[in-house]
Amino acid sequence: MKNILVSGGAGFIGSHLCTRLINEGHHVICLDNLFTGAEANIEHLKDNPLFEFVNHDVEFPYHTEDLDEIYNLACPASPIHYQYDAIKTIKTSVLGAINMLGLAKKTNAKILQASTSEIYGDPVVHPQVESYWGNVNPIGPRSCYDEGKRCAETLFMDYHRQNNIRIKIIRIFNTYGSRMLPNDGRVVSNFVVQALKNSDITIYGTGDQTRSFQYVDDLIEGMVRMMNTEDEFIGPVNLGNPNEFSILELAEKVIQLTGSKSKLVFKPLPHDDPKQRQPDITLAKEKLNWQPTIELEDGLRRIVEYFREYRYID
Ligand code: NAD
Ligand code: UDP
Repeated sequence: MKNILVSGGAGFIGSHLCTRLINEGHHVICLDNLFTGAEANIEHLKDNPLFEFVNHDVEFPYHTEDLDEIYNLACPASPIHYQYDAIKTIKTSVLGAINMLGLAKKTNAKILQASTSEIYGDPVVHPQVESYWGNVNPIGPRSCYDEGKRCAETLFMDYHRQNNIRIKIIRIFNTYGSRMLPNDGRVVSNFVVQALKNSDITIYGTGDQTRSFQYVDDLIEGMVRMMNTEDEFIGPVNLGNPNEFSILELAEKVIQLTGSKSKLVFKPLPHDDPKQRQPDITLAKEKLNWQPTIELEDGLRRIVEYFREYRYID
């Protein structure tokens, strides 16, 4: 049994990770300020003696003893939520990384950073390989997230080089699945909720921009495998599903799967919205023996069922 801390553990991805680690018999401390997370996401773990929830903001230091591993996920991830209080988002990424790295230093824990494909910005190299440095606007409305996450990667590398902290960096590509909140704002949950309500499906821009969508179960498998690699392998490593779709194609699939009467409506494209995104996962295949197994239609069926069943959509 390991002692594992998951920051952002009450969020969409974090709650799946906590569940997986508990099921493996580990003791899990879930640190979360519930900004975009929800107690409902961890309700099923609440009475488990292996699980501990601590309402804490990672902007401030957290002290505990005897940790084996830290997964650092705390940070709002949906554009509407991370732009709501941009300064807070940067503080969460940067101060959160410093505080979690400090805790790793004190406890000698291994620490994994949940970085993002957003560090590639609006990429001109396609598909994105880990050696690509990206095309990021440092002063736009997305910068609080993109640059915050880039700075966190820098901090991880510097703590590794200066203090020999054992680090792992993963770059997560668009992930969806159960426990996304209906008001999350990201494209898959928006479209599914809109389709189930037969309300307009909001396409930003022309809908020709692309994303590659990964189901959360695949991601969790990749994250745990990454944490368990030998200390010498620190990444960064892309974790995503390389099957790429335009946003219009996604909308059509959702309408087809739900049998919805929704119409498409076109809204302005948000500033600096990346035109294309697809992970090159050669490194993950080689080092983690990992690749996604759940394709978009199957994953969409699962999230449709989830919203039908649990989120009270009439
Ligand atoms: P989420 O918003 O559901 O989860 C983030 C969690 O962090 C929430 O529970 C939130 O309450 C918590 N949090 C936010 N600020 C905090 C703070 N200051 N202190 C403590 N807790 C705080 O989003 P998610 O999709 O589960 O993302 C989890 C992580 O994965 C994030 O770091 C995100 O950047 C990264 N990521 C996600 C995706 C994706 O497609 N879902 C893609 C790339 C990277
Ligand atoms: N998008 C959209 N309609 C929505 C929400 C998002 O067309 O209701 C688009 C958005 O402009 C972007 C893509 O879908 O091009 C993915 O957006 P999301 O916020 O899910 O993730 P990110 O832009 O961070 O990849």
